[in-house]
Amino acid sequence: MRRDPAVKESVELAERSSDSESPAAEERRIEIGKGDTLAGVLTNAGIAYAEAQDVVGQVSRYFNMKNLRPGQVFNVTLEPADTDTGYQLAALTFAPDPLKTIEISRNDNGDIVSELSQKEIKKHREARQMVINGSVYGSADRADLPDRVTANAIKLFSYAVDFQRDIKAGDKLDVLYDSYKTQDGYVAKTGEIVFAKLKVGGREYALYRYESSGGKVDYYTADGKSIRQSTGLMRTPVAYGRRSSGFGVRVHPVLGYTKMHKGVDFASPVGTAIYASGDGVIERAGRFSTFGNYVRIRHSSKVSTAYAHMSRFGKGIRPGMKVKQGQIIGYVGTTGRSTGPHLHYEVLVNNIQVNPSAVKYSSENALTGNDLNNFKRSVRALGEEYTQNLKAPVKLASAE
Ligand SMILES: [Zn+2]
Repeated sequence: MRRDPAVKESVELAERSSDSESPAAEERRIEIGKGDTLAGVLTNAGIAYAEAQDVVGQVSRYFNMKNLRPGQVFNVTLEPADTDTGYQLAALTFAPDPLKTIEISRNDNGDIVSELSQKEIKKHREARQMVINGSVYGSADRADLPDRVTANAIKLFSYAVDFQRDIKAGDKLDVLYDSYKTQDGYVAKTGEIVFAKLKVGGREYALYRYESSGGKVDYYTADGKSIRQSTGLMRTPVAYGRRSSGFGVRVHPVLGYTKMHKGVDFASPVGTAIYASGDGVIERAGRFSTFGNYVRIRHSSKVSTAYAHMSRFGKGIRPGMKVKQGQIIGYVGTTGRSTGPHLHYEVLVNNIQVNPSAVKYSSENALTGNDLNNFKRSVRALGEEYTQNLKAPVKLASAE
């Protein structure tokens, strides 16, 4: 919009004038109300209709007017002018979201021009410690841990812990995560968890995000084992044996009709050693219905394994006893409902039998060699970073 030079001259005169009769430049904060249009509020503020249309056109370059909402604010500077209303627009700013500001001004030619400024976002690390008291999300709010990060932590720790069932008041979650912020502290988005530690009951679980040399990003326990669907279990928990029956529907060898087989069978001679397929605590050791001599080991609040038809138990095996992976817990037999010597082996996730073949095994998901060395350095560094950050949050970098 180009105006007659004479008009511009008069504007400048008006601007320079200290005559109290002349209207002064004025700043107005215009809040959009229900049913308002931008053109409407601008004309109400004293801007000529044609100019208001021009401004709407400029704002629309960066903002869809359909998204105009009550409560949004336009800061408008009006200057005295030789118009019907006595004013024209000098400047307008509008921030449709915390990252964007639309700036409209009048250039030297008197034309209305616009510009979009976007705030720079930088990545930071944030450390939070939350103590469970009441709901997990309520506790997270009190610790200033964003819901999205809390949800991710719950998902990550689900390899070992059922939050609904296991978490009690006083349990603790430590999290170090990426956060993307503006200079003035607005969190544009949260990023990935890089380290987290959960204390539940007497147990402690820590996990670390790591990118291996092959470029694969995963979460690992402190000893470099992937947590992803990994139960850390042995694939064949028997000294030797042939897999004689898999998991799934089969014709039962004793009953003769179709039945779900909820484990895998290993045919082995009587007396063959049976191993604890992972570290854990003996939950059950004794006669158990058709399973005969039966042992169940709890490896985490989520995962347990069961061993059936044993001829006898390993030395000292009884409920409550801690066992190590590979420790002998019993010997192959044919007690209970069984057609011959074999180990019936089950993997249970949340107390439901799953196909042991579908469970990933730790050796396939563990870091080795250089990756393991680099990972261990990273574990130490992340632990230190967490402690430092929690004590003294990293200050935002100064503007460049
Ligand atoms: Zn079986």
